[in-house]
Amino acid sequence: MSLGSWLRNHPRLLEWAYDVTHQAVKSLDPVLAKIGYSRVDTWLRGPEELGKKIVFDCRMCGQCILHSTGMTCPMTCPKNLRNGPCGGVRGNGHCEVIPTMPCVWVQAYERSQKMAIYGEELRLINPPVNRQLEGSSAWVNMLTGEDMNVPPGWKATDSRS
Ligand code: SF4
Repeated sequence: MSLGSWLRNHPRLLEWAYDVTHQAVKSLDPVLAKIGYSRVDTWLRGPEELGKKIVFDCRMCGQCILHSTGMTCPMTCPKNLRNGPCGGVRGNGHCEVIPTMPCVWVQAYERSQKMAIYGEELRLINPPVNRQLEGSSAWVNMLTGEDMNVPPGWKATDSRS
């Protein structure tokens, strides 16, 4: 089992790490704003991609909702669903598109049940992903509020409270 798989199956540890990082990034906001978000994005996106790729198989959507999806990246779903599962989950809990792959949303549900802080957020309806943010740092987009920029009629999951 890879380190990433092991960590993903310990979502309580991951949500704690997310919470600590979230608070740290928020407290650094005044400094980062002075440096300039665009410059910070250039510095941060490489290390963010590397770290999140190892742990979450991250696809750098730039609008991270891991804490709302059982610390399971929704973009690894072959249908890229932000709300799941679709109607095609197989009887053995595997994916309709890739039969050898466990359904991302079954995993998200199972992991959310183990979480202590954000598990309930799986019930939230997530807005469509903003493809214009692809490749950028989700942490910087959280600070600028760009991740809250959703189509009319939708409500973003606010992780900044
Ligand atoms: S939700 Fe987006 S930013 Fe978060 S791990 Fe998945 S692809 Fe990466």
